[in-house]
Amino acid sequence: MIATDNVLDAGDVLIVGAGLAGLFAALKLSPRPVTVLANAPLGAGAASAWAQGGIAAAIGEGDCIEDHVADTIAAGAGLVDAHMAQLIASEAPARIEDLVKLAVPFDRDVHGALALGREGAHHQNRIVRVSGDRAGAAIMAALRARVIKTPSIRVLAGLSADTLAVKEGRVIGVFVPNWAAPHEAPLMLRARHIILATGGIGALYRVTTNPREALGEGLAMAARAGAAIADAEFVQFHPTAIDVGRDPAPLASEALRGEGAFLVNDQGARFMADVHPMGDLAPRDIVSRAIHGERSAGRKVFLDARDAIGAEFPTRFPTITKACVEAGIDPATDLIPVAPAAHYHMGGVATDQAGRSTVPGLWACGEVASTGMHGANRLASNSLLETVVMAAKVAEDIDGAAVHAISPDPAPAPRYGHADALMGSAITQSLRVTMDANVGVIRSAASLNAALADIAELEDKASATPGTAAALANLFTTARLITEAALARQESRGGHYRADFPEARPEFAHRMIRTLSADEQLMGTAHG
Ligand SMILES: Cc1cc2nc3c(=O)[nH]c(=O)nc-3n(C[C@H](O)[C@H](O)[C@H](O)COP(=O)(O)OP(=O)(O)OC[C@H]3O[C@@H](n4cnc5c(N)ncnc54)[C@H](O)[C@@H]3O)c2cc1C
Repeated sequence: MIATDNVLDAGDVLIVGAGLAGLFAALKLSPRPVTVLANAPLGAGAASAWAQGGIAAAIGEGDCIEDHVADTIAAGAGLVDAHMAQLIASEAPARIEDLVKLAVPFDRDVHGALALGREGAHHQNRIVRVSGDRAGAAIMAALRARVIKTPSIRVLAGLSADTLAVKEGRVIGVFVPNWAAPHEAPLMLRARHIILATGGIGALYRVTTNPREALGEGLAMAARAGAAIADAEFVQFHPTAIDVGRDPAPLASEALRGEGAFLVNDQGARFMADVHPMGDLAPRDIVSRAIHGERSAGRKVFLDARDAIGAEFPTRFPTITKACVEAGIDPATDLIPVAPAAHYHMGGVATDQAGRSTVPGLWACGEVASTGMHGANRLASNSLLETVVMAAKVAEDIDGAAVHAISPDPAPAPRYGHADALMGSAITQSLRVTMDANVGVIRSAASLNAALADIAELEDKASATPGTAAALANLFTTARLITEAALARQESRGGHYRADFPEARPEFAHRMIRTLSADEQLMGTAHG
């Protein structure tokens, strides 16, 4: 139990995270006063700004909510909560309208209607995009511009939360340690309503497309405060991260293969045709495993987009072109080296349809949450959709409660660099290596037990250095939650593949929800 006298009032609502989930919830709550806390400067640290594809919405001619739900259920490999999928898909048009009103410059056709793209496993054109591959950047720029002009929103950037404060079973605040001075008492920010919007877990893996802030700290904080965690084993690996040694790895979106680019190994063989009838456009988990297989056999894998896209690269895929050019690759004339990378977490803090966690006072939305919409595998572009819909639901739920007229205390000084410090630790890097090797694209009881042993050893090592154990505690908790859930699921389904149980098994055709035992939990309190 952490305790401190160093308490500040953050006001009525405190949102932890300033990605799409955090900022959209803040705007939806306005003019209700909110404080948004983020461990990176506004505009950095959020996966939202890196989204390339767009947002799925059944708004095209010939499309309907039922078809969108059917595609979502098919992708989720038997575990999708159909009620949540229906609820979220049916609110897509209204949320896209909200984003249009926020001046997001979505691509339009010649008649001025929203232009809709298609992505893997969608049977209709239903992806709302911006300038080809710039959806995330454009949406976040529009939201930031509005947040800055909204007086009811106070952003505290440069502060990292590591523990939830709980009093009499209710979450009442968050602890913000001074990572540069671990012996100092942490600061507690107190609020009546706490929204977790801390994003995903990808950075716990050595090869990832996620920002370094995506270390799963929010998930661990919730688990340690007693919140139920769902589907932790389901991590989606994107098959085609650009493999040029950059951390995080830039993404070569599926849209390239949609346009006719194909995978080829260093012996010139197009191996996907032998793996799946859909060839290069097979589902993400199958392509990831095929590439993993090639690489494990010592063969490099490339994306060949020279004929399919060629000279049109800079105009049609500016983000991918930039990433390639920075690595000395001209995608119009060169092969693009690719590797699978941890990309998206289907699991997270279990929430209901209002975004409530199982602990009073705590809501969660965005990638840190698990509504059940994605089941065992996320359908492309459904996560930004789930994020905006659920952020709005959380705001609506909180807005139904009376405002607690607490004037926030003055802002504490920012302490940037927390994620850099965590990433700079050799222990973190070893943890990422073991997650990649043992809890990655292909898992087995042996590899998962090896990961658990590594995590325990690293935790032991961390406990020898004052401050390090506390700083890394959330990383160990989330890594262990994912690994233990993967060990418990003795089957292969969606994003989770077990070499020792290569088929889906009917006895596992359900979501798994876990709450940490009392002695694994850690929450804080304030004196008095
Ligand atoms: C390269 C890439 C491309 C993608 N493309 C698409 C796409 O085309 N379509 C789609 O639907 N989805 C896509 N996704 C997934 C989607 O972007 C994410 O699921 C979504 O943006 C998550 O939003 P979020 O607000 O929950 O998290 P984020 O946007 O990651 O924001 C998390 C916030 O929490 C803060 N934070 C984290 N930990 C702490 C802490 N301890 N204390 C304080 N603050 C903290 C971070 O600084 C950040 O501000 C993509 C993801 C990636 C990485």
